[in-house]
Amino acid sequence: MTKIDLHDYVASVENYPEEGVTFRDISPLMGNGAAYRDAIDQIKDFAKDLDVDLIAGPESRGFIVGSPLAYTMGVGFVPARKVGKLPRKAVSASYTLEYGGVNELEIHEDAIQPGQRVLIVDDLLATGGTINATRQIIEKLGGVVAGVAFIIELEALHGREKIMQAGEVPFLALMEY
Ligand code: IMP
Repeated sequence: MTKIDLHDYVASVENYPEEGVTFRDISPLMGNGAAYRDAIDQIKDFAKDLDVDLIAGPESRGFIVGSPLAYTMGVGFVPARKVGKLPRKAVSASYTLEYGGVNELEIHEDAIQPGQRVLIVDDLLATGGTINATRQIIEKLGGVVAGVAFIIELEALHGREKIMQAGEVPFLALMEY
């Protein structure tokens, strides 16, 4: 069987969401069973030696990566939700968006126990704001970030450096643009 090239399942959309920006859309990857499974399996392989207790993913495409990964690894999934969506006591962190503005994420305070090792996943790493906010919440709750994994990394935005500035962690990006 020929190896899947995940690049074939990324749609690049010029001038979206604004002039001069190329948006990388993973909808074709999610929509293809073999490509979706290949991406999740590669992240599972990266995670196998990281002693992971939980997967965390930011709303909303982090759920699409994190949920099947948690299922196949047999660990729990923790959603980092946009503020105001969680019904019980939560811990939050805010961050600046790639295209301007501020966003806030939150996690239920009982979702992570002190010392638990959490792998953070998302579809795409841009400036790193989303992931660092997710990380801040996990660490406020006493969790340990076991690693971070993405389907796509936008190299020019230096998100990886921003993550490592907050403390070195194992890193995986399946594709770089
Ligand atoms: P960051 O916080 O700047 O790293 O932005 C990453 C977040 O924005 C992720 O949750 C992505 O889903 C979303 N995002 C930013 N740029 C793109 C893109 O080109 N394609 C898909 N999602 C993007």
